[in-house]
Amino acid sequence: NPLQGAQFVLAAHRIQQLPADEGAEVAFAGRSNAGKSSALNALTGHKGLARTSKTPGRTQQMVAFSLPTVLRGETSQAVETRLIDLPGYGYAKVPEALREHWRHEIDRYLHERRSLRGVVLIVDIRHPLKEFDRMMLDFCVRTLLPCHVLMTKADKLTRNQASQALTVFRKEIGADVPVTAQVFSVPDGTGVEDARAAVMRLLES
Ligand code: GDP
Repeated sequence: NPLQGAQFVLAAHRIQQLPADEGAEVAFAGRSNAGKSSALNALTGHKGLARTSKTPGRTQQMVAFSLPTVLRGETSQAVETRLIDLPGYGYAKVPEALREHWRHEIDRYLHERRSLRGVVLIVDIRHPLKEFDRMMLDFCVRTLLPCHVLMTKADKLTRNQASQALTVFRKEIGADVPVTAQVFSVPDGTGVEDARAAVMRLLES
């Protein structure tokens, strides 16, 4: 597992506090409770890396995890790689001012972060394409930022329903967009290997 060596680096409240904007990173985004922390833990193989089932109102943060260095380029120059866990979006109980703060910080992060190679968007396969998801996908399409969607909690559906949900989702997103999508599930491991490969492709792009 190429994501195995992930290590907590820091938690930030503003993008200026993130690690230096060098190398390559992939950001994880999603509505709160979609299953983002569980997905991060499954991908890295660390049960406690990202905190799951957070209590509403808990301080939200951007969290940086370092990965083992990826070698790339013709000179095989070492490139530092990271995963960034963005704050979950849409807690009902978060005060409006804090929500606005994160809307602003996430927006700036997406626009300004030069080392950002792509976004992994976590959606609940039973409720894909909520407002936040549409905003994120629209942003990626407009700016040609690659986005890989994990339609998680697939274990809540039959295999047939899950693949149907994927087909419907892909149709809605349309062709000729920098968006890929797959079915994912933490308890039964569905799609975990494919998702790791997708993260590595983004980092190496
Ligand atoms: P986050 O707020 O997006 O980080 O969501 P969490 O990772 O904390 O997950 C929210 C809830 O969904 C928790 O109760 C998890 O156990 C559950 N969950 C996450 N992923 C899956 C999954 O693939 N299948 C099922 N059945 N439950 C999941």
